[in-house]
Amino acid sequence: MSTVDLSNCDREPIHVPGSIQAHAVMLVLAEPDWTVTNASENAAAVFGSVGVIIGRGLHEVLPAEQVGRWREELTGQSLDQTPRYLTPLPATATTAAWEVLLHRHDGTLIMEFERWDTGDMMGTALAFPHLQRTLTVLSSTTSLVEFCQRAAESVRAFIGFDRVMVYRFAEDDSGHVIAESRREDLEAYLGLHYPASDIPAQARELFRRSPVRLNPDIHYTPVPLVPGLHAEDGRPVDMSYCVTRSMSPIHVEYLKNMGVVASMSLSIVVQGRLWGLFACHHYAPRYVTHGARMACEFITQMLSLQVADKERGEQSAYTERLNLARTALMARLQVGTDLSAALGGETDILGGLDAVGSALVLDDAVYTAGRVPADETIQALGAWLSENSTETVKATTCLARWEATLAAATMPLSGVLAARLSRRPNAYLFWFRPPEAFLVKWAGDPRKPMETGPHGDRLTPRKSFALWQEEVRDRSRPWLGAEVEAARSLRHGVLEVMMRRTEQLVRWQVELEKRNQDLDSFAYIASHDLKEPLRGLRNYARYLGEDHASELTEEARRKVATIERLGQRMDHLLDALLHYSRMGRSEIEAKPVDLNTVVAHAQDLLIARLEDHPVEIRIPRALPVVEGDPALLTEVFTNLISNAVKYNDKPDAWVEIGWLQPAEGGCQLYVRDNGIGIAPAYHQMIFRIFKRLHERDAFGGGAGAGLTVVRSILSRMGGQIWLESELGVGSTFYFTLDASSAYAGVERAPPSSAR
Ligand code: ADP
Repeated sequence: MSTVDLSNCDREPIHVPGSIQAHAVMLVLAEPDWTVTNASENAAAVFGSVGVIIGRGLHEVLPAEQVGRWREELTGQSLDQTPRYLTPLPATATTAAWEVLLHRHDGTLIMEFERWDTGDMMGTALAFPHLQRTLTVLSSTTSLVEFCQRAAESVRAFIGFDRVMVYRFAEDDSGHVIAESRREDLEAYLGLHYPASDIPAQARELFRRSPVRLNPDIHYTPVPLVPGLHAEDGRPVDMSYCVTRSMSPIHVEYLKNMGVVASMSLSIVVQGRLWGLFACHHYAPRYVTHGARMACEFITQMLSLQVADKERGEQSAYTERLNLARTALMARLQVGTDLSAALGGETDILGGLDAVGSALVLDDAVYTAGRVPADETIQALGAWLSENSTETVKATTCLARWEATLAAATMPLSGVLAARLSRRPNAYLFWFRPPEAFLVKWAGDPRKPMETGPHGDRLTPRKSFALWQEEVRDRSRPWLGAEVEAARSLRHGVLEVMMRRTEQLVRWQVELEKRNQDLDSFAYIASHDLKEPLRGLRNYARYLGEDHASELTEEARRKVATIERLGQRMDHLLDALLHYSRMGRSEIEAKPVDLNTVVAHAQDLLIARLEDHPVEIRIPRALPVVEGDPALLTEVFTNLISNAVKYNDKPDAWVEIGWLQPAEGGCQLYVRDNGIGIAPAYHQMIFRIFKRLHERDAFGGGAGAGLTVVRSILSRMGGQIWLESELGVGSTFYFTLDASSAYAGVERAPPSSAR
């Protein structure tokens, strides 16, 4: 019994039933002559045999002067879709009086006649003063609920039904009785919820389009239209806008199950959307005259306007607040350099949205304000959306509808509004809302499978309307259109700021490069040009010391010697500076280089030092072939090996040159020694120019530029240098040659120079 699903109801073609209700007569007319093309079978009783009237002009079927009067009434009026009330057809000796409706749809005119039940009539003349009183009552109400209540009472007064309810649709299309006027002895339906399936989708769409439906007695036998289809093309007659169209048998059964006999409903449409219904039930047959219906339609329209006005008012105040908050945020983003700081603090939910928390995800970083799920959950949410949604802004009141595990992780937050900044990397703005626990009183258990009934494989509407309560815990308040719009415009704002930041970074980069070049050429020019006067100073000092030694006192000779020594020192410093600036300016040539050859060459250059300090050079395995500049690579190795030899006081001093292939790929080279080591505090400082850790002449003295040159070369190649070292134990300098540390990886036999 549960294999039949509700979509059977959703597919039922209720707008082309092929028949009408028993209290009515229908004529389908072809323009321009109003020739009768189809007629309900019962037309014969009123107008003569159907066989005779089909193919005749309406003026031949009905009194010609009546037809002429209607044509006059309709001059200048649109007949499309909305049925027009025409002057009723008075009773004759043989027939009762008929109320008449006419409209055009799908290219044909449809005329509906409804038997005027004079036993209970509310004529137009009577309706007016009554309506006037109603308007006074309605205009004195102060809330929407009160308005609905008064409107329900007024509608009931007009139509004399046992029960009139204002039924409001929720976001999920379920319905809720928000106002009710009923015969006192009846059970109250106020506050009850009805599942969305009680009114299937195509019925809701019909309700949206046509304002009113009436069935004076649901125990009627449908009257077929003859012929059932349009004669010229065989299409069924579309009765979407007909008031008297035969009701869906499923709906009839639904009403019967509730004990209803006469039913009327009026659609409350707000800005094109079906907001709710006046649902009117009577427990005995009952006709509603056109006059009363018009009055009810009028009240319905007033309610629609009232709702639209209230929604607009609420929305515009909130929209204004959101706009202010966005402007303030954008102003902070203009001046602030830190995106995350500008996006809010504990009390400042992003963009002033009515949420309990907000978050910004930028790849690995998560910035939050207020109550939010854990960072990993926010990341996972972003990742899930990147995978599963292409929408820029997406919202839900119940996260479990997106993904169950995410929903479990975000508990107790269930409402999520997300705005995508970019999909790669994971970049999103999020807002969160908690669930609102509320008690839903269902009219019958909405989950109870319905039983298959007399209508083939369709569903039989449920029979139990017994109160059934459900506590809803996983849904937040819905996200309003204004909030979704605010998220969208915040997204635009943040994206713009991010883009400006990127542009600025690029500008800074270009500027920085230019400054660096300027600095290099300044260092070069300064050191190059200073050497000349320095040479003059040193020459004169030597000249004084040598040629005028006899004329100088002992103290003067010492001072002259100091000038000479300082001059020489300065000359060395200038050489180092010149060398450094040359390294920064030289062109890099990249070609395959065998590092074994490079290391052998460096050892040759260091031959003098190696003879002074005998050191064991270890190369545990042949070095690779890499892409690079041989001269610059030689400079790197010469400096590192020279330091490893220099800063070593061990009797069994050794230097190891090797390479590693880390798990993350690429190639790391290293130069290791068992020398004096470097305290951690100096691990960064030693790369600064002219920074030495000891007395100038200790360990063979250096200018303090070697490591600066090494780092500058490696960073120009895209590589890096770092070290591990322990005082008194030794140091290892690791380095990579380019960003990806790619290497040719060809192994060679260890060079003969390795001892
Ligand atoms: P220098 O020309 O003085 O050698 P560097 O820039 O090459 O200048 O090195 C800076 C300082 O770092 C050195 O003065 C030395 O104190 C320290 N240093 C460099 N390499 C080592 C090493 N292998 N072991 C210990 N100290 C070192």
